[in-house]
Amino acid sequence: MDEIITITDLHYSYPDGHCALKGVNLKVKEGETLAIVGPNGAGKSTLLLHFNGILRSDNGAIKVLGMAVNNDNLKNIRSQVGLVFQDPDDQLFSPTVYDDVAFGPINMGLEEGKIEQEVTQALGAVGLNGYQQRLSHHLSFGEKKRAAIATVLSMSPRLLVLDEPTSNMDPATKWSVIDILKKLPVTKIVVSHDLEMVRELCRRVLVFNDGRVIADGNTEQILGDKELLKKNGLCRPFL
Ligand code: ADP
Repeated sequence: MDEIITITDLHYSYPDGHCALKGVNLKVKEGETLAIVGPNGAGKSTLLLHFNGILRSDNGAIKVLGMAVNNDNLKNIRSQVGLVFQDPDDQLFSPTVYDDVAFGPINMGLEEGKIEQEVTQALGAVGLNGYQQRLSHHLSFGEKKRAAIATVLSMSPRLLVLDEPTSNMDPATKWSVIDILKKLPVTKIVVSHDLEMVRELCRRVLVFNDGRVIADGNTEQILGDKELLKKNGLCRPFL
């Protein structure tokens, strides 16, 4: 299996001097489903923003798909790492669903027939067949979330990175999103507080706190450790 993410002793400080990552080590292989869990302010989003070079460390501490995250590789990395933001309104900015989902393939310079094919496939994968001409900003929250996922699926990513994919959802909407994600045959890294979703979707869990990896193990083992979860501000789902 290829390594999708290789991180060695990653440190990151924001321009105001706040140190958010304090020596992170992590390897993620192709085909894995990994959850990153931890309390607010742990540094989860900061870490996630390194996966497609929105934030960067200068010392080569991170490789994505075997590539250093630098100006030469950035376009290639971004075409293969799909980042789904917590708020779908940060991802949908075109008038129609078609335009939003076609944005990536158009940017990649694909020809028109291929673009249409990618859009149709991506919308099909999230259960939004026939939504092409709907107005993105008129969709329900759950539909927006699915459309946001489609905007990265249309690029056929090798890694899907999702920030709190089930936040602010009613149970039915949440389970429909979990079902969709479960069916996508792609490597996934999910940042979430929703341990119910984590249990359903991910095989490996990383507990993150104060800019560091506190624990890394299989889902059953980590979610079974009540003390570990409590110490790190997490609440065990009903079993
Ligand atoms: P999490 O996603 O786990 O809630 P974040 O990665 O958002 O945590 O934040 C980690 C730490 O970095 C927090 O202490 C937060 O206040 C700080 N932080 C986040 N963004 C910035 C920023 N742009 N400038 C300075 N500090 C930040």
